[in-house]
Amino acid sequence: MINVAIDGPAGAGKSTVAKGAAAKLGFIYVDTGALYRAVGVYALRKGVDTKDAAGVSAVLPEISVELKFIDGVQHVFLNGEDVSEEIRTPDASMAASNVSAIPSVRSFLFDLQRDIASKNNCIMDGRDIGTVVLPDAQVKIFLTADPEERAMRRYKELIVKDSNVKYDDVLADLKARDYQDSHREIAPLKPADDSVVYNTTGHTLERSVDEVVDIIKEKTNG
Ligand code: C5P
Repeated sequence: MINVAIDGPAGAGKSTVAKGAAAKLGFIYVDTGALYRAVGVYALRKGVDTKDAAGVSAVLPEISVELKFIDGVQHVFLNGEDVSEEIRTPDASMAASNVSAIPSVRSFLFDLQRDIASKNNCIMDGRDIGTVVLPDAQVKIFLTADPEERAMRRYKELIVKDSNVKYDDVLADLKARDYQDSHREIAPLKPADDSVVYNTTGHTLERSVDEVVDIIKEKTNG
């Protein structure tokens, strides 16, 4: 199987670029952030403090998270319920970042990610895919962009759903999440030594997709 790892900070365009590249290559696209978001949403629903490692670990046995690919699009199921929409709120983003720093949560989601990669040609995006989950991936890309541009992209997505969203809040949340994700002890966000670092600042989506497809083809002799 061909495995492509795409890691990078929040709002770098990983999911949009990975989706576009996967469609061009006929690979499946796996968004691992959705798994952490589903665990975060469960903790929020249960009223568990998402930073409380013992509290979150205690509810993990109650959780079943599944990824299903419906018409090629990933859906996340939390105990059988499709939560693909609910996991996209700003609260779910922060909850995901909080629970993802807890070692038991990372090991809980590890096998699921490995299993999908072992059975499919896939582009998997996240924070630790190239460094921890798929250290032997044939292609590793670290996708990034300036924080202001990443925040503006995220703001444009959120404002469609909620007219009260403020750009400054989105930028502050994004910086807080990046800091937390890159400074945690376990699986911190950082480029794998053998990754290609690609900064998409100022690039159109089409250009980013094309460049990522080129990197993948070059590395896999496709
Ligand atoms: O990619 P997305 O923004 O949906 O990820 C939500 C959060 O999940 C991130 O801020 C990060 O803390 C966590 N995450 C992670 N490892 C991954 C994917 C996401 O820790 N592989």
